Amino acid sequence: MKPQRSRALIVGAGIAGMATAIRLRQIGWDPVIVERSPERRTGGYFIGLYPEGREAAQRLGVYDDLHTRTPQRMRTWEIDSEGNRSRGFGLLERPGEPDAVLRGDIEQALWDHLGDIPIRFGTVPTAVDEGPESVAVALRDDAAGTERIEHFDLLVGADGMRSTVRGLVFGPHERFMKPLSRMICAFQLREQVPYVPPHDGLVLAETGRSLWVFPLEDRAPTALFTYQAKDIDAQFTRPAKEVLRGVYGDIRHSEAVAHVLRELDDADELLFDSVNLVEMPAWHTGRTVLVGDAAWCLTLYSGMGASAGLCGGLALGDAIERQPGNLPAALAVWEEGMRPLVRKNQFAVKFKRHIFAPGNDLIAHLRRRLMHHGGRQASRQQTR
Ligand SMILES: Cc1cc2nc3c(=O)[nH]c(=O)nc-3n(C[C@H](O)[C@H](O)[C@H](O)COP(=O)(O)OP(=O)(O)OC[C@H]3O[C@@H](n4cnc5c(N)ncnc54)[C@H](O)[C@@H]3O)c2cc1C
Repeated sequence: MKPQRSRALIVGAGIAGMATAIRLRQIGWDPVIVERSPERRTGGYFIGLYPEGREAAQRLGVYDDLHTRTPQRMRTWEIDSEGNRSRGFGLLERPGEPDAVLRGDIEQALWDHLGDIPIRFGTVPTAVDEGPESVAVALRDDAAGTERIEHFDLLVGADGMRSTVRGLVFGPHERFMKPLSRMICAFQLREQVPYVPPHDGLVLAETGRSLWVFPLEDRAPTALFTYQAKDIDAQFTRPAKEVLRGVYGDIRHSEAVAHVLRELDDADELLFDSVNLVEMPAWHTGRTVLVGDAAWCLTLYSGMGASAGLCGGLALGDAIERQPGNLPAALAVWEEGMRPLVRKNQFAVKFKRHIFAPGNDLIAHLRRRLMHHGGRQASRQQTR
């Protein structure tokens, strides 16, 4: 008789969930994905995919099908609220030369490699009961209005920063989510800022707030507002567009800010959220493991969330393959292997957040000097 294959339930069809599913399938498991949304999301915001993420995508076998949008010859301009500009230093010019992609590009490449892995949309876990032989998960199908219990060998929570699996198995969000007192709003522009070449990026960064325009090779840039906020709850009491006009509306002499605010008014889709690290003492129990933002949300300031999600899914499959029949050992080895990458990037966020929204005037001043220095270097390199 053929031995029965191990079954894994993966909650969340984002980057971490699909990467995990693909790797588990490669090592002979039967993964099933459940996703809360009624259908697959597309598009998304600018992402810099760094070497760690690139290598993971290669090993998963998806990199060749990943549509990248890195501008061939780009410059980044630091602008100020008076409309002045000088050469700056953008994310794509940093060490590691990341690929410019949209979040949806990575998800599309993973989606194209899911093969026969089943995915159930509109389905969420509502209860988890871990036993020695299996983990029982109650799954609610929102469209059908039904709920039933199924048994798996492994439950993977890849359901993002506000993970339901984390809440059901590890404890309430407040215990693990560390607010950074900052907000973001990301959306796709329809047109580049007037008088700016299509492949150039812009950054306006002042004490407590910034605007970024990220260029892409084959479509209009995406925009990112990020600002400091003492009262995070208050940010959600009014429509996002109104809140952002309140935070940036006083910058009257910058054509770039005016343009992006006009486009914001017409944007159909935008991501408006608070910024939180997720810090946990352990990412796994006996048969449940968290991967990606659910376990370690590094925030956009790290520039490494997508890469870490890909690495996490890949490494989980690797660890299970190397410890056949010993899931607790595999999960322990996996966690030990992932910790250094996560620790390094969570530590870096404490500084990097000031690149995005400087905490005070002195930091804003130092940041400007650093960016001008980086800009001069980048400019010299390009003219060589
Ligand atoms: C503006 C912005 C810019 C960023 N820039 C970068 C960058 O430059 N480089 C980089 O590497 N990273 C970047 N990141 C971070 C990166 O996007 C994330 O780290 C990554 O997408 C997280 O993937 P994930 O699969 O862990 O979680 P998510 O993308 O949050 O996916 C979770 C999935 O689970 C589903 N889900 C949620 N709850 C449930 C439930 N109860 N049941 C079933 N399904 C559920 C969700 O619908 C979603 O599909 C950025 C993030 C933002 C917001």
